[in-house]
Amino acid sequence: MTSFFDLYPHFISLIGEITVLFVLGCLVCGFILLFLTIHAIRSGNLLFPKFMRAGLIFLEGMMRGLFKLFGVEDQEFLRIMVTLQNTLNRKAFTATPVSQRAIFVPQCLRSGACPANLHEEGLNCRSCGLCQIGVARPLLEKIGYKFFIVPGSSFIKRMVKRYRPKAIIGIGCLIEIKEGTEMAGQLNLISMGIVTSRDGCVETAVNWDEVYEVALLGIDPKDVPHELQQYIS
Ligand code: SF4
Repeated sequence: MTSFFDLYPHFISLIGEITVLFVLGCLVCGFILLFLTIHAIRSGNLLFPKFMRAGLIFLEGMMRGLFKLFGVEDQEFLRIMVTLQNTLNRKAFTATPVSQRAIFVPQCLRSGACPANLHEEGLNCRSCGLCQIGVARPLLEKIGYKFFIVPGSSFIKRMVKRYRPKAIIGIGCLIEIKEGTEMAGQLNLISMGIVTSRDGCVETAVNWDEVYEVALLGIDPKDVPHELQQYIS
């Protein structure tokens, strides 16, 4: 009769073979992901976005190491993750009625001399003319968006709980967008992230053209104010 001790060496060798196959599989996937990422950075085109997102999340630690080895910076990695998420969410976002959408902009986008007061639903923009938020807010609210100037990290969750939007647009630095996207996933929200073009604590900047282009996805052109007609894609 075969005892456990007779099978033990086979068992160990089987585990060894499975481990080697697993490591080889990860390395092959890693190099495919590396190729797809470099292609995406150079051409701006995402190939196999579902595979890329799943692979980059599952193999995040290894991929960061591989990217470093091949001169791809962490920032580029995060940027690709944001682009991937946006690409995968675009269709669902476009199909979401504007009445179920909200947009969250960070308070650092304001002018340093902003006169807005803080109230329960964020900063109360007075459209004073010192920054672009004062232009964007009335236009996007006219279309039907809930528009919030975010004063702190727990604010978004609170507003989502209160208004229950199905889709959100978030503006922020790369790290904020990555974390916000993860949070949106946990809350079952369709999210579109827009990365600021200048970071910092005050008077940051965003490409408002990009904000409008995303915000107008799926909106009937007849409902778009004439100031924003040029951004309909
Ligand atoms: S436009 Fe609004 S957000 Fe911008 S500085 Fe004026 S009050 Fe503040």
